[in-house]
Amino acid sequence: MTLCLYFDDTSWLTCDATVVGHMPLGAGTAIILDQTLFHPQGGGQPADKGFVSWDGEQADLTHVRLDGETILHEMGASDPVPPIGTRITCHVDGPWREICARTHTAAHLIAHVVAGLVPNARPVRAHAFPHGAYVTFEGDMSAFDQTRFEAALQGATSHNLSIEAFTDGGIRHVKIGDFPPTPCGGTHVTRTGDIGKVRLTRVKLKQDRISLFFEVT
Ligand SMILES: [Zn+2]
Repeated sequence: MTLCLYFDDTSWLTCDATVVGHMPLGAGTAIILDQTLFHPQGGGQPADKGFVSWDGEQADLTHVRLDGETILHEMGASDPVPPIGTRITCHVDGPWREICARTHTAAHLIAHVVAGLVPNARPVRAHAFPHGAYVTFEGDMSAFDQTRFEAALQGATSHNLSIEAFTDGGIRHVKIGDFPPTPCGGTHVTRTGDIGKVRLTRVKLKQDRISLFFEVT
């Protein structure tokens, strides 16, 4: 089990950790750490980027993924691998973390805003990669009105609502303003004003599903 320090503070980008295991993965090797700041890919959110350093060496991570309760930090075949027991430093790519957290938080907000306008809409999927992000809803979306949606979304960001994460019954939740809490293991900004500008780029209708594609700038 890897201790997930990224749960504590999205802006925390550097930490020390100990290598506790190795795993051959593809052509390279994944290292397992006792604790990490690297968010693994999952829940519709991409993996963090960055590198690890130790004893004058360093290696970029090619991917970060979850394997049960263990986080695998993947390194390329030609990269040096820190031996088990080595104290290393994790360096998370700040700009990538920030755009991922802003996009992911925007997906939460879009789900809340749609729920307020279209009571029968049910969010069923969120894809919060910075390019091509979308939230998909099921249910009777006939009441959806793009102009009202964009105005409500603009209001929710401009009101600069607080965003907090907490654990309840062993499950991590995120709560935005007075909206109901949502179970989530992702990274978030601390206020809706930090999301930036959210622009709806495409509305895709398919049978009883509607996908709202968006980008944050
Ligand atoms: Zn989240």
